[in-house]
Formats: sequence, structure tokens, C-alpha cells
Amino acid sequence: MEQKKWHQMDAEELSRQIGCDPVRGLASEEVAERLERYGRNELSEGKRISPLTLLLNQFKDFMVLVLVGATLISALLGEYLDAVTIIAIIVINGILGFVQEFRAERSLRALKALSAPSASVVRDGQVISVAASDLVPGDLVLLEPGDRVPADIRLLETNSLYAEESALTGESVPVGKTALPIRESELPLGDQRNLGFMGTMVTRGTAKGIVVRTGMQTEMGTIADLIQQTEAMETPLQHRLEQLGKILIIVAVALTVMVVVAGILHGQPAYGMFLAGVSLAVAAIPEGLPAIVTIALALGVQRMIKRKAIVRKLPSVETLGCASVICSDKTGTLTQNKMTVTRLWLGGRSLEVSGEGYVPEGEITESGAHVDLKKDQGLRRLLQVAALCNNSVLYKKEPEEERGKRAKATQGEEGEWLLKGDPTEGALAVLAAKMGLSAKALEGLYKREREFPFDSERKRMSVVVTHQGGRLLCVKGASDMLLEQCTHVLWDGNVIPLTATLRQKIAAAAEGMAASALRVLGMAYRDIRGQESVETEQEAEQQLVFVGLSGMIDPPRKEVRDAIAVCRQAGIKTVMITGDHQTTAEAIAGQLGILPRGGVAVNGRQLAAMTDEQLDREVDNIYVYARVSPEHKLRIVKSLQRQGHVVAMTGDGVNDAPAIKASDIGIAMGITGTDVSKEASALVLSDDNFATIVAAIEEGRGIYENIRKFIRYLLASNVGEILTMFLAMMAGLPLPLVPIQILWVNLVTDGLPAMALGVDQAEKDLMKHKPRSAKENIFSRRLGWKILSRGFLIGICTLGAFWITLRENPGNLIEAQTVAFATLVMAQLIHVFDCRSSRSIFHRNPLQNRYLVLAVLSSLLLMLGVLYIEALQPIFKTVPLDFRHWCLVFVAAGIPTFVMGIGSVLGSSKKKTQHRTPLGGPRPAAR
Ligand code: ATP
Repeated sequence: MEQKKWHQMDAEELSRQIGCDPVRGLASEEVAERLERYGRNELSEGKRISPLTLLLNQFKDFMVLVLVGATLISALLGEYLDAVTIIAIIVINGILGFVQEFRAERSLRALKALSAPSASVVRDGQVISVAASDLVPGDLVLLEPGDRVPADIRLLETNSLYAEESALTGESVPVGKTALPIRESELPLGDQRNLGFMGTMVTRGTAKGIVVRTGMQTEMGTIADLIQQTEAMETPLQHRLEQLGKILIIVAVALTVMVVVAGILHGQPAYGMFLAGVSLAVAAIPEGLPAIVTIALALGVQRMIKRKAIVRKLPSVETLGCASVICSDKTGTLTQNKMTVTRLWLGGRSLEVSGEGYVPEGEITESGAHVDLKKDQGLRRLLQVAALCNNSVLYKKEPEEERGKRAKATQGEEGEWLLKGDPTEGALAVLAAKMGLSAKALEGLYKREREFPFDSERKRMSVVVTHQGGRLLCVKGASDMLLEQCTHVLWDGNVIPLTATLRQKIAAAAEGMAASALRVLGMAYRDIRGQESVETEQEAEQQLVFVGLSGMIDPPRKEVRDAIAVCRQAGIKTVMITGDHQTTAEAIAGQLGILPRGGVAVNGRQLAAMTDEQLDREVDNIYVYARVSPEHKLRIVKSLQRQGHVVAMTGDGVNDAPAIKASDIGIAMGITGTDVSKEASALVLSDDNFATIVAAIEEGRGIYENIRKFIRYLLASNVGEILTMFLAMMAGLPLPLVPIQILWVNLVTDGLPAMALGVDQAEKDLMKHKPRSAKENIFSRRLGWKILSRGFLIGICTLGAFWITLRENPGNLIEAQTVAFATLVMAQLIHVFDCRSSRSIFHRNPLQNRYLVLAVLSSLLLMLGVLYIEALQPIFKTVPLDFRHWCLVFVAAGIPTFVMGIGSVLGSSKKKTQHRTPLGGPRPAAR
């Protein structure tokens, strides 16, 4: 008989066939063995650049090849020493470039691995979270809305499960899934309704299933080649720098040709001029720039990881510095997501609940008097709904619990009460447990028949349970929306019609709780008649009996208030977007300092009633959006963007993905976020914390400024080098620098200090000025001027020192060249400290950046070596300098930085006196 296909088997056959216990899952030893047998659950990767190719690429540069050619010619002409040294310098340069690019590439790959998806599995009877790549056939997997299906999975249980399978079938409408076996043998993928396929996405509902195929064996694996598009990892800045690099090559080559021609016309030997020209071109072209930019970005990204922000898309590092609005979720991001029910309201009575955290100890009182549960039918019903309509698991941390369990489950001290699942539900589970109605206590009495899971559109959840007396529907959710489904209310133990007056009373009670920043949930129920069908939530959730309200605190995170204040100083507006009640949202926004005087809060209904034009007009005044659905988020992002804002937007649910994608910096939650929201995001917060966004923005600004710093340094140095040579040739002077010296400067002076600038500390006022415009040119804010002015002065001063020495001792060209060499190197090494500040060298402590001090010291030592080690002197054409020479070198090298520095200090103090505002308020810092 032909072997049955996975979709044809029933649960029992399936678990037998694949060797999995459908309750306890696989045992860990079995998993290890299967992992060995079937391999990892990964799609094979596309081609990678091998390190050898990367190394060879370093020598492909046209100018480097010309230099190699020129060197070979000089070898043929008998200049062996020159040839060997130049080749050595080229090789060292190439290796350095290789190391830089290799590191950059490796950090990028590590980043990708960091954001790899995980999966919830049952192993050894415990729910744990593992990397999706560790799944094996036979693993028992749990699916939730927003999950990427981690392998091909035969479903065993489904609760209103829908999956979006367009990646596989092209069908963009989510398809409903079932757990029942299907008889037909040959079925197209789209009709295999009891299978979940790797890479597709759960849009609604929950499910449990057994992995039947992993890795390349999955349906996705068979088309893996088609989907191996990697994310664009190049940032706009990198792209622009590449363009700039091309222009600089043309400029450098043109100038070099002019230098060579001028030199030859003034009687320099053609061959010598040719070699000098090519060396100059090699030195002047900032070929290391892209690699240093990548390293600065990658190192910055590492720093962000330390501060709990994981960058998924490199370009966002740049955009972060431009962010002008942060739209943040409330629950869990601005608040701690540690909920505790403190108040109840039922049948017109207000009750207080004592106890803290997840410890199921505390009591319920009414006006200070203990409430007896036995005599209180309303309270019993409320607690029953709270306990049954609940998926969270409350447990005590056992001493033997091993590591590696679900992240949320492993935190905490031994013996501490912990929670698995949604904190809102956890708070209700704790409440019920405080009165003895724990999930365990109810286990034997009620059996769950089905669940209509919570979703952020309906804002409620319900379950159908069977008990001895029949079937019961328990519902909990946002009270205002739940009330719409209610026709009756439980009042003093009687079920009475829900009149308009009673509705108002309930609404007023909810409003009262919300005004004290409580999160309010309503509870309702109804008995289900005999054979009544409750297949859909519409059928089930109607004609409900309202029971009461629960109010839970969710304290704001401690660090958020300060972070919001930092944002305000940095010209970044913080907006709260929440599914929660408007009054609760406003109360929390008030506590956190989000809502300024005159700021507006709107709710989902008001938002829906606004046209896009109205929203555009209002959007700058709105600070809180409450009771919104995920689709509103997209409208808000678009409207803000139309006002010219660069928007950072957080989200965690599956429906948040479009808004996250549309925003300029999509941010997902590392702990509570769904796979889908993480995939759509550019940044993942590994602690779900708002303050981390602000830290990431700070890093983003810092990285951009550092890139500007070393661009300034490298280009000013290059301008200086070219000008020295160019002006000398124009003036009919001999060559101020020999080719090897030029190459040495390029290797030593330009390389190390530039890299150290890439990791420079940020300036103190980094978060005190407005975000830069996204369209800003890298050379704006006077950077272009600084490059040209400093470069020009470095060139003039180097040439000046050369000329003075040559005039004093016309017969000794080598001595003058050595002075020029030392001046050029020193001028650059002084200028590098100036590059750290957007104002002048006097504004920052030069010793603060240890790497820079070390880089400068080592460049200095290497220069002294070239000057004073006898063996090196003939190679680098140098002579030892005396005291008088050094005085000249220091004066000439210091002029470009100190003269300009004094100039800018005088300039800015003059401006300050002119621009002092009448209020005496601080002016935005000059940048
Ligand atoms: P944010 O968008 O800031 O994270 P939120 O978590 O309050 O806010 P939602 O999760 O969409 O937003 O919740 C909206 C409302 O739905 C809540 O105010 C609450 O009344 C209700 N609610 C939340 N969780 C549940 C749940 N598990 N079951 C039933 N109702 C819930």
C-alpha cells in the first residue's frame, strides 16, 4: 500500500510515524540525535565572497596597478630598493584594506545572526524557546499570531488559525487552517489546509503542530534559490561616498597629471616625475574611505548592541540621527508591562485588591472590610472569567530549572513567582489565584472547548468551556468595546437588562479607574444553549452578560521620563500610540511628560473621522493616540512624513508590520515582538524599552559625526599632499616629497588616526541640538570649508618649510625634503585632534580618545624611525634633523590648526555677543 502523506494522517498516526509524544514533545537526547541525522533547519545560504577574493580585490584598483607597473619599470632601471619598498607598502596597504573589509563583513554577518528567528517548542514536557534553526522533525511547535512558521508543520490543534502563504502560493489572502486529516492524496499546497509551511506567516489564531520537514526538505527549501534576496546593506551615505570617491579619483588624477606635466616642463626628469605622480595619485585617492565608513558603522552597531538595540538594516544607523518623531507603543515600551490588579468594580461596588507582583497572596476588601467570596456571586463570576479566559501560566521558579528555557520564564530568583504569557492575563490569573481560583484548582471542573484569541482589532478574547451543567462562554476585553456586545448585566446576584443608565454607570466607573492610570478590562459571560453553534466569534460573542471591571496598574519604566526629556532637548517629539483607553493613556502620558500644555490626545474613533487633510493640519499638535488599531498607525506615519518628519515607529503585533515598514526607522520589540514585526523592522530593542531607542538615536548621531570627522581628516590631508606637490611644480621648485615618502604618509599618517576618529567619543552637546535634515550633504555645516582651508594651509606650510630649508642650504635637497616630510606628517597629526571637534581644537581634551593618542604616537614613532634609523634613511631618502629644523617643522605644522582654531574662537565669541537673545535663552549650539 502506498505510504500515506502527512496531510492524510490523523494525530495518532502522525505521532506514531514521526516518533513524537503529542503532549510532552521530544526528549532532549532525541533532539540531539535527530539534529545530527537531519541537519539544521536552515535554507542553504547564497554565495559568499571568499576571503581570498576579498584580498585579491584590494589590488584590483586601477591606480594601484599603475603603481605596480611603474615600480616594475623602476626595478628594470635598477632602482631595486625603491621597487621593493614600494611593493612592500602596496602589500601592507592591501592587507590593511583586507582586514578592514573582512572585519566589516564579519560584523555584518554577526548582526544578521543576532536577529535570527526563534520558535516555541514543547520538549521534555516544557515550553521553551529555541532558535528556529535548531528544530528537528518530530518537534512539537506552538504558533501564535505574528510568528513566521519555522518549518513545515502538520497541525494537531488550531484555534481560528489563519496563515498568509503568499511567499509560497502567491495567494495574498490569509487561509484558514484546520487540524483535521484530509483524505485526498494529491493536493496542491494551497489546499493542504492542515499543514503550516516554513516561511509563511500566522496572521491570526494559535495552533500546535508537529514538525514534519526541516531545512532544504521543506516546501520553501525547494524554491530556496528564488528567495535568497539579501537586504540592501549599503547605506545612503556609503552610496554617496562611493560616488564622491569616483569624482575624487578624477580630480586627483587630473591634478597629478598637471603636477607631472608642470614638473617635466620645469626640467624634472620624466621618469622620476612619473613615479612621483602615480604615488601622489595613489595617496590622494581615499580608497580606504568606504572600508573605514563600514567599520565605523559596524563598530557603532556593536556599541548599540551593548545598549540593547540591535540594528537589522544598516542604513537605519544613519537615519537614526535624523529622527524627529518617535511614535511609541505604551504597554511594555513606556511602561514596565508588569501588571497588577488593584481595583475591581462590579454591580455598582468598588473593591480594592491588595498584594504585589505575581505573588498570589492578598485580599479583596470593600470600604476596608474583607469580602467573603462564598457570599458574593458577582465576584465569584468575575474571578471565574478572569481565570478561565486566560492563557497565562503562573509558576514558582524551581531550583533545578535549567537555563535555556523561554526567556521570560528563566528570569527571577529561585522560589519567585513568575509568569509565562501575556502580563495582562497574568495579572488576572494572579487575582483569581489570590482567592483560590488558580488554573489548577479549576482544571478538573472546566474543560476548554475552543478559544477565540485576543486580537488588537476586536480588543477582546473569549473561550468556550464545558462543565457539568453545560457550556459557558467567558469573555474579557476593552470594557467600552465589550459593552457593545452585552445586553444584560449581573447586578446584586441577578441578571438584569443593561439599560442606558446602567451603561453610563459602567462607563463612568471605567473612566474613573482609567483616570488613575489603571488599565481597565471588562469581563462578561453567557451560558451557551444545548446545541447552539459557536463556530465563529460573531456567533459566540453576542448577548453577553456584563459582570464587572478590573483595573490594573502598569507603572511607567523609571528611565523613560528622562529619556523623553532628552528627546525634547534634542528636538525629537515623542508620541504615544496605544490600544489602551484614552484616559489611561493620557494619565500615563502626563506622568511621563509626553503631553505638553496645549498638546492634544485623540482616540481611534476621532482619528477615523478625520480626513487626511485634517490629520495633516493637526498631527503636529497630537501627542497621544489612544484606542487605535494597528491600521491607524500607518495613517499617522504617513501624515507625519508628509509634514517632513523622519519617523521612528515601534510595534510588536503582526498588524503593525505595514506601519513599521512605512516608517523611516521601524522598531520592533525583542521580547514581546512577533517575528513578522521584527522582520519588518530596522531596529530591534532587546529590552523592549523606550529609553533604548533614545540611546540608539544618540549612537546614530555619534556615528554620523564620527564619519564626518574622519572624512574631514582624510580629505584635508589629501588636499595638503596634492597642494604641496602641485604648488612646488608650479613654482618650478624641485620635488618636495619623494614617491616613497608620499606612500608612507598615505599608509601610516592617513590610516591609523582616521580609524581612531571612527571610534571617537561624541561631543557633549550631541543630544542638545535639532536632528539633522535627512537631505543634508555630508559636507554641509562648514565641513567642506574646513577641509579646503585646512588642506590648503597644510600644503602651503609644508611647502614653506621646504622652501625655507632649501634656501638656507640649496645644495641639500634631501634635507629640505626631510623637513617637508616631517612637516606634512606633523601637520596632519596635529590637525587630527582638531577634527574631533565641530568648533575648534581648544574645545576638547585631546587625550580623551585613547585610541587616537596611541595612533598618533605610533605614527610619530614610525616617522622618527624613518628619520633616525640609519638603515631606513637610504630607503626613505631622509636625513636626521637638528633642533632648528624641528622648530621650523613645529611652527609650520601647527599653523593650519592653531591659526584656524584661534580664528574660529574669535569668530564665535563675536557672534555670541551679536546674537544674544533678549530672553538670554541658550542658542542652538553651532555645529
Ligand atoms: P500598546 O499598543 O501601547 O502596547 P496595549 O497593549 O494596551 O497598548 P492592545 O494590546 O491592543 O494595546 O490592547 C488594547 C486593549 O485590549 C487593552 O486596553 C485591553 O483592554 C484589551 N486587552 C489587552 N490584552 C488583552 C487580552 N489578553 N485579553 C483581552 N483583552 C485584552
